[in-house]
Amino acid sequence: MNKLKIAIQKSGRLYEDSIKLLKNCSIEINIGIDKLKTTAINFPLEILFLRDDDIPQYLEDGIADIGIVGKNVLLEKRNKIKIKEYLGFGKCRLSIAVPKSLVYKDIEDLNGKKIATSYPYLVKKFFSKKYINADIHEISGAAEIAPGIGLADCICDLVSSGTTLFMNGLKEVETILKSEAVLASNLDLDSEKNNIMNKFLFRIRAVKKAKDNKYILLNVPNNKLNKIIFSIPGIKSPVILPLENSECSSVHTVVNENDFWGIIENLKSLGVQDILVLPIEKIIL
Ligand code: ATP
Ligand code: ZN
Repeated sequence: MNKLKIAIQKSGRLYEDSIKLLKNCSIEINIGIDKLKTTAINFPLEILFLRDDDIPQYLEDGIADIGIVGKNVLLEKRNKIKIKEYLGFGKCRLSIAVPKSLVYKDIEDLNGKKIATSYPYLVKKFFSKKYINADIHEISGAAEIAPGIGLADCICDLVSSGTTLFMNGLKEVETILKSEAVLASNLDLDSEKNNIMNKFLFRIRAVKKAKDNKYILLNVPNNKLNKIIFSIPGIKSPVILPLENSECSSVHTVVNENDFWGIIENLKSLGVQDILVLPIEKIIL
């Protein structure tokens, strides 16, 4: 059987979560010592370990069929490939930062400045949209030291917590792009590979849906049952089981992570006390 080739980052910020994604999809792999490539034990998948910057080109050339890479890299490189799924990890933003001491009012303050970045295409596009004339200085790697050593006035780089910027005496002033890891694919996979990719995507979506939801169980006095069920927007209608204590019922349902705390507060205000919350491994609808 033909195998689908997936490229993932060899080491770095996306590595652990990419491996975890395969594991959560029940795909078992043995990572060898050389860590160049490996084959999944129980799924027709071959895993190639690469530098993240190289993944888009490998996908366009068909050396790899699918790959996990930051959207930031995909948009900067502009290869002919397709985003199949957003993966919910590797979240960061591409932002412009200036020295803390600079009084920054608005984007006009960037006119005439020298900016260091490893994202020249995205920065150029952003500036031309905003009619800003700045000198873009392309660098590879850590941009945050550039202002401190006199290489540039400001930088455009990836930020997640902002600690690195802060430690280097910089402040974030504009966000160019919000990014996360995505699953991207070559544009013309044959039908066999396309089938394998769809099976993999099916598993990824089941895992993602499970992560976004919680299973909750609550004991509800029967006289409040209608009111309480009405206040829980579960993904399907809840399960209601009678308890041995005939005045109460056990209600089971699945709620979305985003609605979770609001629902719990509402339930508490309605007098529900025994609430059990469980993580879900997979949801297949
Ligand atoms: P490689 O050696 O593979 O080229 P790298 O040093 O270019 O690795 P990493 O720093 O490991 O890359 O980042 C990989 C990806 O992780 C980024 O392209 C981005 O999508 C994501 N990411 C999430 N948070 C951050 C962050 N705070 N800084 C940098 N990248 C981040
Ligand atoms: Zn890289």
